[in-house]
Amino acid sequence: SEGWLSRLKNGLARTRVNIVGLFSGGVVDEDFLEELEYALISADVGVETTSRILQRLRDDIKLKGLKTQEEVRVSLRDALAEILKPAEVALDVETSKPFVIMMTGVNGAGKTTTIGKLAKFLAEEGKSVILAAGDTFRAAAREQLAVWGERNRIEVISQTGGDPAAVVFDAVSAAKARGIDVVICDTAGRLPTQANLMEELRRIHRSQNKALEGAPHEVLLVLDGTNGQNALAQVKAFDAAVKVTGLIITKLDGTAKGGVLAAICAMRAEAPLPIYFIGVGEQLADLQRFRAVPFANALVG
Ligand code: GDP
Repeated sequence: SEGWLSRLKNGLARTRVNIVGLFSGGVVDEDFLEELEYALISADVGVETTSRILQRLRDDIKLKGLKTQEEVRVSLRDALAEILKPAEVALDVETSKPFVIMMTGVNGAGKTTTIGKLAKFLAEEGKSVILAAGDTFRAAAREQLAVWGERNRIEVISQTGGDPAAVVFDAVSAAKARGIDVVICDTAGRLPTQANLMEELRRIHRSQNKALEGAPHEVLLVLDGTNGQNALAQVKAFDAAVKVTGLIITKLDGTAKGGVLAAICAMRAEAPLPIYFIGVGEQLADLQRFRAVPFANALVG
C-alpha cells in the first residue's frame, strides 16, 4: 500500500512554511524564487544545498526556458531526487551468517521501535532474527524489547545489569549455534558507551572464538526526522565514535521537515551514507525502504 506516501506528504505539508503550498500556479518571478528558497531552508534542506538547488533552478529557467511554476516544481523534484538517489541502497543481510546489525541513536530517536519494525521487516523476508538487548542502562528499554519479542515470537537475549558487549556476544554465539540469519543489537544512546561497546566487541573478537568475526556488519544510526539540522550533528558525532554505515530516519509522518534528508545526502555528495529505511508511523508496518523519487515527490507536492 502507498498509504504511507500520503502520510509522509501530509506530514511534510503541515510545516509552517511548506514547499508544496508554494506552487499555486502563479508566475515564476524573483519573489517566487525567494519564497521557494525560504521554504527549502525552512524544510531543513540547509543553506548550502538550498543555494545550489536555487542555482540549478535559475539555470533551468534560463536554459530550458521554464515558464510555469509547475515546470519549476518538476525541475525542483528532479534536483532533489538527484541529491537523494545515491542514498537509496537496499540493506543486504546475505553477506554473512549471522549478519550482525548494531543500532545506535540518541534516546527518543525511535531506536527501540525501529528495531521491532526492522525485525518484522526481515522476518517477512523469510529471515530468522534474534534481538540483543544491549541497552543495559535503561531497564525500560530492555523491558520494552522483551515484551515486543514475546508478542512477536522473536527471541530476545538479555542480562539483568549485564554489560552490553557480553549481551551482544551471547546473542551472536546463540545465532551462530542455531543458524539464525540476523542479530539486531540495541545499544544505549550514549556516545562514550557506544565507543566502549565497539572497542569491547573488537577485544572479544581478538581474544575469543570467531563468533564476532567481522561484526557488526552494519552500524545503523536511527535519526529523528523532526530534529532538523541537529540530525547532521548527530551523524557526525556517531560516525566519529562508531563509524556509522547507514541511516534510518524516523517520524517522517509527523511534522517532519523531510528536507533534512537532502542535507544529509549533501554532507557527502560523492558517497552519502545509505538511508536504508524511513519510519512513517508508530506501527510495525510503518517502516519503508527509502526511495528517492517518491520521497522527492512527496517533498514538492
Ligand atoms: P528510543 O528511545 O530511541 O528507543 O525511542 P522509542 O523507540 O522508544 O521511540 C520514541 C517515541 O517515538 C515512541 O513514542 C515511538 O512510538 C515514537 N516513534 C518511533 N518511530 C516513529 C515513527 O516513525 N513515527 C512516529 N510518529 N513515531 C515514532
